[in-house]
Amino acid sequence: MKQAIPFETRVITALANHERLLQQVGQMKKQIGAHLAECPVMKKAGDWTLSAEQTNDLYDEKMLVKTHLWEAFNETVESDYGNQVAMNRDDQEVHLTEEDTGCEHCYAAWRVIQERRDVRQEPGRARRALRMLGKSALKVTPP
Ligand SMILES: [Zn+2]
Repeated sequence: MKQAIPFETRVITALANHERLLQQVGQMKKQIGAHLAECPVMKKAGDWTLSAEQTNDLYDEKMLVKTHLWEAFNETVESDYGNQVAMNRDDQEVHLTEEDTGCEHCYAAWRVIQERRDVRQEPGRARRALRMLGKSALKVTPP
């Protein structure tokens, strides 16, 4: 017969898994920021020696810097039907790696964003595991 894992061990494991994932997402956020800080557009936008006229068009209406990554997420491409559509993952990768539109720093940030997308699915699973354990705990504790 399979040995049951003690309840306490399952709780600690589930908490640790959940926390590890949250920390991983936090680390990825820092990595993305660090890559974007190296983007020449970001550097120019943050250059206080330039006049407002020189840097105004580097920002969108939400005051986000129009980095190459911003372009990949906000600019459109012509679809097979001739209309303008948002770039899909492949279009974005091409945009960020082409010589005339690309940027190694924005591309590095984009790759972390793709990884983060997968990692972000995990905390949901980890949270459900915690809730299952919480429901078991309710059964053995007085209300
Ligand atoms: Zn860039």
